[in-house]
Amino acid sequence: MSSIGTCRLCQTAGATLLGSHIVPEFFYKRVYTKSHKFTAIPLEDEKRLAIEQKGYREDLLCANCETKLSKWEGKLSQFVSQVVSGAYTTCKATQHGIVTAVSGVDYSSVKMAVISIFWRMSIAKHKLFGSYSLGPYEEQFRNLLDQAAVPAETEFPILLSKGLLDGQFLPGILFPMSRGMYDNTLVLQSVVLNGIVFDCVMTKTRAIPKEMAAFALQASGGILIASRSYEDLGVDIGEVSKRMRRADVKAFYQKHS
Ligand SMILES: [Zn+2]
Repeated sequence: MSSIGTCRLCQTAGATLLGSHIVPEFFYKRVYTKSHKFTAIPLEDEKRLAIEQKGYREDLLCANCETKLSKWEGKLSQFVSQVVSGAYTTCKATQHGIVTAVSGVDYSSVKMAVISIFWRMSIAKHKLFGSYSLGPYEEQFRNLLDQAAVPAETEFPILLSKGLLDGQFLPGILFPMSRGMYDNTLVLQSVVLNGIVFDCVMTKTRAIPKEMAAFALQASGGILIASRSYEDLGVDIGEVSKRMRRADVKAFYQKHS
């Protein structure tokens, strides 16, 4: 899949645009069943679940930009594997109740990769990502990515939580969700990838609450990751059921994760 057009990131006209993943491909690996044919993302207007091998793509980026994003994604993939498995190799982790304190995260790459995922979901045409719109931040995010300008930890803070269904962490869960609010003041963009809830706080200049600042990804490479039920995390599993057109999403994920 490729076409000629204007790269959405560097805005070079007449570029060969590659089929870019909206959600990076590595996230889909844990979503497949043993037959490697299942993803949690339903095709539009399909009653059955989508069967696709490599995840959903759109022609968005030129080869240079694709390469640039893939370098950040590589580091995110490495980090996410450790969060999913709980076996930390390049990072270090200590457990404090339900909270895992992780250090040694590649701040710049992970932050940019997460920002790039929210940006891609915002510009994607597929209705699965219809609830994502960064509004004025879309152009700001494009600029950050294009200039490789890594925001400070207090700018667009990134938070991660491990979601639990009946006390179980299920890395097969992958779905976009609507944006939410924190304390009725801050807008959060959120997505669940490999069972992990990624939140991006949509502010560059406002002060964020202390507890949020403490949990967010730090420039020093630290982050606090809590394991909580999706309900406590404000994730509406009913919404997932609706998207998947299945009544019993829990049983489904437990069977397939
Ligand atoms: Zn480009």
